[in-house]
Amino acid sequence: MSDVPPVLALDALADRAAELDSADPLAHVRDRFATDHTVYLDGNSLGALPTAVLPRLTDVVQREWGELRIRSWEESGWWTAPERIGDRIAPLVGAAPGQVVVGDSTSVNVFKALVAAVRMAPEDRDEILVDAATFPTDGYIAASAARLTGRTVRAVPADAIAEAAGDRTAVALVNHVDYRTGRLYDLPAVTAALHAAGALAVWDLCHSAGALPVTLDAAGVDLAVGCTYKYLNGGPGAPAYLYVRAEHQPRFDSPLPGWNSHADPFAMADEYVAAEGAPRGRVGTPEILSLLALDAALDVWDGVAIADVRAKSLGLTDFFLECVAAAAPAQRLRPVTPVPHAERGSQVSLSCADAGGMMRELTARGVVGDYRRPDVLRFGFTPLYTRYTDAWRAARVLADILEERPHTRPDAHPDTPAGIRADAPAGGEREGTP
Ligand SMILES: *Cc1c(COP(=O)(O)O)cnc(C)c1O
Repeated sequence: MSDVPPVLALDALADRAAELDSADPLAHVRDRFATDHTVYLDGNSLGALPTAVLPRLTDVVQREWGELRIRSWEESGWWTAPERIGDRIAPLVGAAPGQVVVGDSTSVNVFKALVAAVRMAPEDRDEILVDAATFPTDGYIAASAARLTGRTVRAVPADAIAEAAGDRTAVALVNHVDYRTGRLYDLPAVTAALHAAGALAVWDLCHSAGALPVTLDAAGVDLAVGCTYKYLNGGPGAPAYLYVRAEHQPRFDSPLPGWNSHADPFAMADEYVAAEGAPRGRVGTPEILSLLALDAALDVWDGVAIADVRAKSLGLTDFFLECVAAAAPAQRLRPVTPVPHAERGSQVSLSCADAGGMMRELTARGVVGDYRRPDVLRFGFTPLYTRYTDAWRAARVLADILEERPHTRPDAHPDTPAGIRADAPAGGEREGTP
């Protein structure tokens, strides 16, 4: 096919896309979402709206709040929603019930998890390891947690964390999938290596939960956090979750022991006594409207096997990479997402010249992804509502734009993947949202 003009090769892939869609066992799940003609490849940042959310929120607002008012804390199950919804997320992260609680932002849960982990670790373990390329908030919070607990932070590339852990390491905070490159790390192996070094493992699942299998219990993970507005489609600002392994719960000493985490909150006691189990991770009054939007959003998982989600995610990203290769030479659009499936999350990041301008143009033509400085176009593939024809169309529009911009020299960017260097300053997120 080397002598076939690239655009022709790309057009030939349109039929394949249609065939793949008709054979897709998850195709029907798309009907559970509000969709339109936009090719939406940003569900790794803000998941699409599940259609069950609006009627549920209408009922929550009109009846539960409007009519039942304060009675709803009990009668509508508001008070226990953080644990109840946590138990709905649990199977998606490989956790048995009773270990996941929903509430607060990911940033706040990183703080709770790290400080609590340090408090569980022996005194002489004086360092916290963090993934050097982490999403910035995790690094900022880790630095503060270290200052508060008298430890130091050491930033290490994620693929070197297992080796870097030693007898001074209290805990390591690791991302399951790198938000910029889409690289997937080996959660069981890294957790085992951390444990072998006597350190605790805190995983950030923001870019993996809901996109691929996560095995917290089986891998022996100590603590984990994740957000619910990406692959879990909970809506803008939906609350995050915190996993505390059952065997650690009695020793989980929260740095934010709000009254909701008290063993008997309504005793309004002077003395703090921590609740047993997952509620120990709570802080203050739960964000009921967002929580119940998330609850309704989780209905889309009914009857969906995460193994099928993973298979389709890899199918979509493989197919998109094939389309991209047909759309443009590698000097103009260079994939920075790993090719081996074992190292790939559910997004494809492409490095190109003027990535910001490219993404504005893509969005204007109905293909929504996002841009991460300095040179990365990021496309998230959410298997529940993304079709193979969407992947194809995104590549087709990319090819059109590149054709119209022949002046963008392929050598405009040296081949250094500036956007993914572990030592690169963490990119701002203002271009979109997380
Ligand atoms: C999206 C994301 C966050 C988001 O944190 P918020 O507190 O919800 O703003 C944090 N960490 C990582 C790794 C993320 O991908």
